[in-house]
Amino acid sequence: MGSRVLVLDDSVACRARIVSQLVAAGWSPANEATAEDGATRAFREEFDAIVCDDLMTGISGTQLCRLLRADPRTASTPIVVMTASPTRRGMYWAIESGASAYIAKADCARLPAMLRQLCARPSKPSLNLPSPSSATVAARLGHLLDSALFESHLSGRIRGIAAREKSVSGLFRCLGSLLGSVLPFRWIALAVVGIGNSAHIMRRSNDETANADAAAALGTGAITLESVEEEACAAHTEDERVLKVDIEFGGERIASLAVCAVRECANSSASILSVVQSELPPVLRLVHLVDQTTRLAMSDALTGLPNRRAAMDFLEAAVASARRHETPLSIALVDVDRFKSINDRLGHGAGDVVLKQIAATMQRSVRRSDLAARWGGEEFLLAMPVTKLEAARLVSERLRVLVERTSVPLSTGQTVEVSVSLGVAQLGAESLDALLRRADEALYKAKASGRNRIEVAREHAAPELGQSFASAKLNG
Ligand code: GH3
Ligand code: MG
Ligand code: MG
Repeated sequence: MGSRVLVLDDSVACRARIVSQLVAAGWSPANEATAEDGATRAFREEFDAIVCDDLMTGISGTQLCRLLRADPRTASTPIVVMTASPTRRGMYWAIESGASAYIAKADCARLPAMLRQLCARPSKPSLNLPSPSSATVAARLGHLLDSALFESHLSGRIRGIAAREKSVSGLFRCLGSLLGSVLPFRWIALAVVGIGNSAHIMRRSNDETANADAAAALGTGAITLESVEEEACAAHTEDERVLKVDIEFGGERIASLAVCAVRECANSSASILSVVQSELPPVLRLVHLVDQTTRLAMSDALTGLPNRRAAMDFLEAAVASARRHETPLSIALVDVDRFKSINDRLGHGAGDVVLKQIAATMQRSVRRSDLAARWGGEEFLLAMPVTKLEAARLVSERLRVLVERTSVPLSTGQTVEVSVSLGVAQLGAESLDALLRRADEALYKAKASGRNRIEVAREHAAPELGQSFASAKLNG
């Protein structure tokens, strides 16, 4: 008896033609008119090869390929898809779906040789597939197609993050909430290579042990976790399992992602994570690059403080917020005294060290909601939202004293004493430019009155109606 082949075609004439050709070539063909009956038979009996029509009523040839490939009994059986009207797209999709070959029915004469060739190939090692289910062929196919659609949808959502998010922390929030809506987890954490020793974690606010568990799972040692608190995260249970995947781009690990999943969902978590593992790399790479570029463009290379451009963005937002919420906003311009002489006496390098030290002092002395920025050269800016003039004066005075009392150590072993002068102003009914001008005038006064002191700008006086007309005229 020749090798057994199963022929599936809903046209009686086509079936008969293929069968007689195969018989003539020494094969023992069986045949069925539908993919459902064919699949049922292929799962029950053993065939050396399967030939199927691509367009049949009910399940198509391509869908049948997916179904047969997903079952351990037929996972490596050669399948030839035959078509009356071949197209490139049809060929691509059939091969992607698991067909071993795709040929035109007009080339039917090639079939016996092709089958011989396919059957002579060493069979692929058996895939590690779940044991066959007893569901009907249609139900199994429905489930298979639905899973494929789900994975493709999830892939699309992950890829879509790149178009919306500009920061790695934004990407993480987005990914965390997407994954949280498809699998229950206690926490999820992401450590990106090259962002220092920090990682992101999404967890319940009261889950104190999550950070230590995530750090251990990521294997990154001592890390600072930037946490996103999410009450939808599951509470700690005995029934959980930590899964970790490496995210690789161009053959290099660029991040690690760990999830503490609720155990009953461990199987689906693994398949969801494998989608993340294949889709996230280019998304993360792109967002990380945009993030880094933005940071570089907004920060001062010498001191690490936000630069003037970042400070202007902050001030514009702060002015808008002060107007909307009717809250005060104060600023201080800070200028190093006789800085040129430090450069002249000790060299430009020493001047740089002094600037870095003042930047660090400023950063230490402001609140989280304030901004300390390098305004340019040896000038700095302090922006203090929701702060009245008197409070801003106190902050400025504290900073002045701190700088005066801190002597700056140089690499030569010498130390430098340095002082700053400050001009402080509170926003009135004026533009941001006008506020900055008043702070600058106050600073000039502080310099003129001897340096190492602060000068507070008088409250902005709302112009009289006539005056405002006059200035509008003057301004053009
Ligand atoms: P004043 O008390 O009136 O402010 O005097 P000053 O010497 O501080 O002011 P001036 O504007 O005359 O000099 C500022 C100097 O700061 C001149 C410039 O070369 C120097 N400078 C600006 N940026 C940097 C920098 O990044 N590093 C160093 N080392 N020096 C800088
Ligand atoms: Mg100066
Ligand atoms: Mg200056």
